Amino acid sequence: MSEIVILGAGVVGMTSAYALARKGHAVTIIDAANAPAEAGASFGNGAQLSYSYTDALASPSLVRNLPKYMLGLDPAFQFRPTLSPGFWSWAAAFLANATRAKFEANTIEVLKLAMESRRAFAKIRDLLDFDHRATGKLTLYSSLQAVHSAGALSRLKNAHGAGQVMLSPKEALEREPALARYGHSFAGALWSPFDESGDSQRFCLGLRHLLENQYGVTFSFGTKVRALTKRAGRLVAIRTEKGERACDRAVLSLGVWSRDVAATAGIMLPVWPMQGYSMTIPATAHAPIASITDSARKIVFCRVGDRLRIAGLADIGRSNGQFDPSRFNRLVETAREIFPDAGEYAADKTAWTGFRPMSPDSRPIVGPSKVKGLFLNCGHGSLGWTLSMGTAARLAELFD
Ligand SMILES: Cc1cc2nc3c(=O)[nH]c(=O)nc-3n(C[C@H](O)[C@H](O)[C@H](O)COP(=O)(O)OP(=O)(O)OC[C@H]3O[C@@H](n4cnc5c(N)ncnc54)[C@H](O)[C@@H]3O)c2cc1C
Repeated sequence: MSEIVILGAGVVGMTSAYALARKGHAVTIIDAANAPAEAGASFGNGAQLSYSYTDALASPSLVRNLPKYMLGLDPAFQFRPTLSPGFWSWAAAFLANATRAKFEANTIEVLKLAMESRRAFAKIRDLLDFDHRATGKLTLYSSLQAVHSAGALSRLKNAHGAGQVMLSPKEALEREPALARYGHSFAGALWSPFDESGDSQRFCLGLRHLLENQYGVTFSFGTKVRALTKRAGRLVAIRTEKGERACDRAVLSLGVWSRDVAATAGIMLPVWPMQGYSMTIPATAHAPIASITDSARKIVFCRVGDRLRIAGLADIGRSNGQFDPSRFNRLVETAREIFPDAGEYAADKTAWTGFRPMSPDSRPIVGPSKVKGLFLNCGHGSLGWTLSMGTAARLAELFD
């Protein structure tokens, strides 16, 4: 059996390696960074294993609000077109997925994948130490209209095992007493009892140890992939900044960077970055126990050990790929308004920005590519941590 080379040591590449190594394959992982989950979205994401909240991004309500997002009138979500032709083809496919029928179909397909992922996580979570918690999630809605539409979607999802329950504000407060200190009012809260949380970076570090020591997986860190080399439609080598390496079987899992590397082999991947931010601060006694998502302000609060991870903002389009202090400050201000004393905001914050690798339909791209020997596992969008074990299992099924 020939070796399988995995490109990318984010949570998607690491779980791919685990699923393949368990099937007896010889696996090597290449990454430009010096450790797993160091440089990409798997480092500081919202920490939520959001198995039931799989709502696709492209939706009729997003289209209704598009002018607001394009004019920068929503503090949390910006949609700013760029001149890049890659953006326009992605945006056209994205908007084509915003019909009610496609939104619901995409949401349900991702839910099915999330449930597979949940079952796979259940088998590994006790082997690794990653601040795992199974405390459920509350998603807060600010208006009765929002409660009504979230309730309708949850009924659809519940037919596929989501197990969600819409709670009144009083019922939500009974479930999560920290909501007594919530800085706004809310009309209802969707309770997702199966949702969990954990630190995806620590998960990846633990997985590295397991992969090296129990499965003989090798790592080539500090190695930037420049291009894929094909001959007669078949993958023959990977060109890195350290030289060329012969390879006839590889998995592309480079998060938002998958698109550029795929293009070197003539593959146009519909993956576009959506930038977000997070901070990690010490949690106080007033921090919520359950994960909380404020749907109107698009911010999540999640305990990670004795810390509080606060993540949010979604910026699509123009970006120089850098940390924007004004956007980060927006996250801090919004978080302080929502839960003024849940965390030590004045303490040193681990301030972070990352890029969600968005596909137009919010479904990850898993399968063979048109280049023989090259497989894809990318485009996990806002849910890559949640879906990673599920996509890894689906990927492994493709290999004998
Ligand atoms: C603000 C924010 C909050 C989020 N919250 C959640 C959440 O609560 N729950 C959830 O499930 N998901 C969440 N996500 C999404 C999730 O983090 C991503 O979907 C997931 O981390 C993607 O993993 P990945 O392995 O595909 O990519 P990444 O983690 O980005 O990894 C890509 C890897 O490729 C490497 N690389 C890049 N280019 C090269 C190259 N040329 N050569 C070699 N190596 C290269 C990088 O070093 C990196 O290690 C969030 C994302 C953001 C930004």
